Amino acid sequence: MTNSPVVPEVDLWGSGRQVGHLRVPQSRDDSGWGTIQVPIVVVANGTGPTVLLTAGNHGDEYEGQVTLLDLARTLRPEEVQGRVILLPAMHYPACAAGKRLSPLDGRDFNRCFPGDPFGGFALSLAHFVDSVLLPICDYQMDLHSGGTGMDIVPSAVGHILDHAGMQARTLAMADAFGAPVTLLLKEVNAGPTLLAAAENRGIVALSSELGGGGRLSPAALTITKRGVRNVLRHAGVLEGLPEVGEYGPSRRMTVPDLAHYVFAPADGIWEAAHPLGHTVQADGPAGLLHRIEDPVAPPIALSYKATGLLWCVRHVGRVKAGDPVAVIARDM
Ligand code: CA
Repeated sequence: MTNSPVVPEVDLWGSGRQVGHLRVPQSRDDSGWGTIQVPIVVVANGTGPTVLLTAGNHGDEYEGQVTLLDLARTLRPEEVQGRVILLPAMHYPACAAGKRLSPLDGRDFNRCFPGDPFGGFALSLAHFVDSVLLPICDYQMDLHSGGTGMDIVPSAVGHILDHAGMQARTLAMADAFGAPVTLLLKEVNAGPTLLAAAENRGIVALSSELGGGGRLSPAALTITKRGVRNVLRHAGVLEGLPEVGEYGPSRRMTVPDLAHYVFAPADGIWEAAHPLGHTVQADGPAGLLHRIEDPVAPPIALSYKATGLLWCVRHVGRVKAGDPVAVIARDM
């Protein structure tokens, strides 16, 4: 039994297509018994694995949200063997505001796991996802994009795991998703993310980065829609084999350390030297940081410290000291 105060309006063990909300308590001055309604859709039929698909962990990342809305409308119970749980706008207040962080309390929802049942909206929702939804899942994918600040080559993202069997199952799921890039990260402290929470429960799990720049990219949306159906085929929930994109099999890459990042050393306006997806060289020019405070001083020239694919670029022109402006990935 969970001690969660979150009440689902759907029967997680029911069949067919169910549409409702997770009702999360959120007391206000003008509504002491107020709740926030987080949309949930469950499509289930027969016996088979359970796949939890989530989007809107960060509210300004749109490809996953639109893909899961599309799946919620079009996935027919009779084509499903098993159960698909969809949270198309998981961190609903941030999604409704089109923001990365919560308009309630400024929290980053992907830093709230495994949560706290009585810690307020974000922590109690994270606790429900971790303690109620994850334990009934076989596969989990949390759909992210680059958000307002970054633009990223469409990628499935997984962790480098110590357990060889889990690593193989994670890579097989990423191959099935079929993004142009599969990026594996070794995080010293994977920390309070949903991906880490799923891994801690022994679930085959992926995250993603599917575009960014605070917009919905039609090209990245096509990749995301194909990818989630591919994951359902890979899990055996849908019939058929995963479809390969026109760019071919996913390219396995990694960002091994912070030397593959370029950070702004001061506040300024960032002028990148190369577009996203360019192949760049160590010691080559990464761009110029322009300083409005000193009109006649030359801009600060930054260079790459690694050779590889320009996997992530700063999208917003204005940067603060310490912001990453570029991330390089290299082939595994
Ligand atoms: Ca994100």
